[in-house]
Amino acid sequence: MTDQQQASPQSPTAEAPSSVSGIGVSPGRAAGPVAQLAGAVPEPGMESLPEGADLEAAAASVADHAARVAAGLTASAEKAQGESREVLETTAQMAADPTLVQVAQSHVRGQRLSPARAVWEAAGSVADQLSALGGYMAERARDVYDVRDRIVASLLGLPMPGVPQREEPFVLVARDLAPADTALLDPAKVRAIVTSEGGPTSHTAILARALGIPAVVGATGALEALTNDRLVLVDGAAGTITLDPDAAAVEAAARLAAQVRTFDGDGRTSDGHKVQLLANVGDPAGAEKAAAAGAEGVGLFRTEFCFLDRADEPTIAEQVEQYRTVLAAFPGKKVVVRTLDAGADKPMPFLTDTAEPNPALGVRGLRTAWANPQILDNQLQAIAEAAAAESADVWVMAPMIATVPETEDFVAACARHGLTTAGVMVEVPSAALLSGPILARASFASIGTNDLTQYTMAADRMLGSLATLSDAFQPAVLRMIEETCRGGAQQDRPVGVCGEAAADPATAVVLVGLGVSSLSMSPRSLADVAAVLAATSFERCQELARIAVESESADQARARVREGLPILAELGL
Ligand code: PEP
Ligand code: MG
Repeated sequence: MTDQQQASPQSPTAEAPSSVSGIGVSPGRAAGPVAQLAGAVPEPGMESLPEGADLEAAAASVADHAARVAAGLTASAEKAQGESREVLETTAQMAADPTLVQVAQSHVRGQRLSPARAVWEAAGSVADQLSALGGYMAERARDVYDVRDRIVASLLGLPMPGVPQREEPFVLVARDLAPADTALLDPAKVRAIVTSEGGPTSHTAILARALGIPAVVGATGALEALTNDRLVLVDGAAGTITLDPDAAAVEAAARLAAQVRTFDGDGRTSDGHKVQLLANVGDPAGAEKAAAAGAEGVGLFRTEFCFLDRADEPTIAEQVEQYRTVLAAFPGKKVVVRTLDAGADKPMPFLTDTAEPNPALGVRGLRTAWANPQILDNQLQAIAEAAAAESADVWVMAPMIATVPETEDFVAACARHGLTTAGVMVEVPSAALLSGPILARASFASIGTNDLTQYTMAADRMLGSLATLSDAFQPAVLRMIEETCRGGAQQDRPVGVCGEAAADPATAVVLVGLGVSSLSMSPRSLADVAAVLAATSFERCQELARIAVESESADQARARVREGLPILAELGL
């Protein structure tokens, strides 16, 4: 149970709640009317149209609703920009394509299927044909299903699936958000996000932080209490949603939201203790955004983007080209390149066995190199070539290191390619506990708090129902971090954090107090973290770290640290 839940006792008369709470995952306060994400469109039944039904009218209704869907999408596309516009235009074209309608109409006329069922069947066969063509065409199969759902929803009078398209800004409420839903999120329209499921490291949380949208996840009861058009005030730091807030609270939230913070590119505590503030980057576009946000470098370059959705390994030349574009955004600056982290939530057909019973505990990260050393070797070659061609200061690290011999092997493999700054990610408790001997071999450590939390707490990071365990404020996780920093200090090696915890200003203070010297996060979070550090002395960071580590629960640790940091409330964080 969160502190907020404890603070709002159940009324004996079971009055309607005045607030709902969950886990705040993206700070900021925002108010607006609720717009719920419509649930999945149900599969229409197979029953045929009754005797005497007007088959021509039924067939015409397919064309009519397809045209309405296409027109709606085109209108939305005209109002959208950038990537969202492209996605909407493509979907509109698909809805206007006569093939789907003609096949569906033939099902109505020939098999007497209802218009909705006919569209369902037709979409299945069109999508199968596209999938069989492979490549770009196969990717369009997803669009066919999207169009199918929209036409069926229109035919059955159901709400349109996906993110609502509204004129006025709104608070988006959903069970959880799928990656496809999030492609269309427009931060100018979506004031805040509330999900009833999902944890702090869920896709929704990461995306909300990346877009700078206040968000609360794991808000049990949100779907029932936050009905469409109800005015709510979301506090993405406290994790609370106030129903029917008063005008003064709404105005105060708007004032706070209007304050734009920027990062000047030099992270320090109030007394000048240096904390490098770096960015997590997943592709070349992300690198440009990170540089524009003032990041002092890249603390985690996730290279998976180059490998995902591929049937086989990209060539060394392809990799060099992609890596160079990221390095080029940070001339002369530190860029920590992480070698491929395949497996678990990032399966790759050419490398990982998807039939493993426990993928998170299976052959993932560096372990994939045991059976396929060549893929790691090729990647190191590509990183070395990219580094030689650009001026960035390239550091390399491996994910999922658990032992000292693995560290030795990785450092040696990097050295064979002339990559001399080779480090480890500390994501597995064994690596935290062995950080001394590990850092006697490796040049640096970067703590991946998403996985370190998952493995310390034995709680699947993807599971919303375990969100209270998936919390870096868990004292056991903080002790793992403390232990890693102890090993770093022993060996005089830097220890950074590149998991989501680094992006939370309160946690960032604790991490610095524990001895972490760099924090890597979504570029959007840089300014908030920098502002809070700039208002806090290093000694205060150490005191708060002590208090957090000695707490007995995550809620207690968070509450005590937040209480000791009044700057958070002042900044609306
Ligand atoms: C982590 O585990 O904290 C991390 C940064 O790696 P990823 O989220 O890519 O697993
Ligand atoms: Mg990880």
